Amino acid sequence: MSVSFEPSNEKERVRQGLLKVGTKRSTGEIQVETPGCLMYSRRGATPHLTPDMARLLPNRGIQISLSHMFDDMPPPSINFEPGLHKYLNLEDYLMFIDTLDPSPELEQTLLNGEKYISVNTYGGIRKVTPQDFIKTINAYKPDIAAAMADIVADKIPTAKRARKSVDRTLKWLDEIIAEKKENISLFGVLVGSQHERERQRCAEELVKRDMDGYVLDARGLNVEEEEEQERLLRVSLDCLPKDKPRVGYGFSAPDGVLRGISLGIDLFDSAFPYITTEKGHALTFEFGSQEDKNAGQLVYDLWDPKNKSDQGPFLEGCQCFACQNHTRSYTHHLLNTHEMLGPVLLMVHNFHHYLRFFKEIRDSIRDDSFEQKRADFLHKYYNK
Ligand SMILES: [Zn+2]
Repeated sequence: MSVSFEPSNEKERVRQGLLKVGTKRSTGEIQVETPGCLMYSRRGATPHLTPDMARLLPNRGIQISLSHMFDDMPPPSINFEPGLHKYLNLEDYLMFIDTLDPSPELEQTLLNGEKYISVNTYGGIRKVTPQDFIKTINAYKPDIAAAMADIVADKIPTAKRARKSVDRTLKWLDEIIAEKKENISLFGVLVGSQHERERQRCAEELVKRDMDGYVLDARGLNVEEEEEQERLLRVSLDCLPKDKPRVGYGFSAPDGVLRGISLGIDLFDSAFPYITTEKGHALTFEFGSQEDKNAGQLVYDLWDPKNKSDQGPFLEGCQCFACQNHTRSYTHHLLNTHEMLGPVLLMVHNFHHYLRFFKEIRDSIRDDSFEQKRADFLHKYYNK
C-alpha cells in the first residue's frame, strides 16, 4: 500500500489536491479529493446510517477511532485474520485509524504515563501501551494509521510537560515505525501544546522520520486569542513538506474548516455534522451562494414546535433523499416520538450538505474565489 498526495492548486497556504492510496484489495486504488473529510464512525459504522445508505454518499474515506474498539482489551476483532476492512465490509474505503474520538463524546483523559496513554472508552478508561497499539494496527491493517501520541489535555501544560509530551511521542513513534507492518502508512502527530520551541522540535523530528502524512490537533490548544492560536499552529505546519497530506482535528465546524484550509489542512474529521444530527438540527448554510434560504442561520432546529405544520424540506433545493422525500413536519414528529428514522433523515441530509460544502470549497480554490467566498461566509454566519 502506498499513499501519494498531489497538491495541484496552491496559493499562499490554501491547497486543493488528490490523495491516492494504492491497495492490494480487489477495489484497487482509492482516491479522496482534498480539501475533504473523513466520515465519522463509531466502531466502524456511520451512526444512524446502514452501510448501503452510507455508500450513497460521495465519500470513500472513513475514520475509525481505537477508543471505540478498546472497551474490550484486546478487542476480539484483532483475531480476524483478513483485517478490519474485511471485518467491517469496508474494502472500498480508505481506512484511517487513530486512537482518539474526534467528537467530544469521549473526552481525553489527563492520565498518560511514561509507557502508556489513558484512553476513554464506552466501557471506562483503558491504559494503552505502544505495544498494544502496534499489535492492534498490525492486525487491523488500515491504509493509514495516526501514530499513538502523548497529547496533553491539561488546560495550561508547563514547558516541562510539553517537552515530555514531545519526547514520549517521538519515542513511541520510533517503536511503532520499527514494528508496524510495511503496508500501513503512518502519519505523525504534531504535539507541543502552546510552547513554540516544542512544537517546532516535534515537527522537525517528524519530518526527519519521513512520515507519510501529518496530524494537527487544535483541540488541546488552550489559547484564547485566535491569532495566537493560528501562529502556534503555523509553527507546526511551516516545517512540513508540501507533498504530504495533513489531517486536522478540532476544525470540523464550518468556520473551523475554512480556517483549517487557510492554514494548509487537507483532510478534516466530520464530528460536526454528526453532533448537529444529535441535536436534532439540519445544516442550512450556503457557501459561495448569494442566496440565503435560511436567514443567515447555520442550522435549522427540527425540535421547534413551529415545524408541526411545515410541509417544506429541511433546506429548499437540497437534492438529498431526506429533503426530496420528507417534510420538516414529519421529522419533527419522528423526533418527538423518538423514532429511529428522525436522526436517520437528519444524518442523510447533514452529511450530504457537509460533503457539498467541501465540493464548493474545492471549486472555489480552483477558480480562485476561495478568499472572497470565505470572507462573505464568515461575515454572513459569524458576523466577522
Ligand atoms: Zn437535504
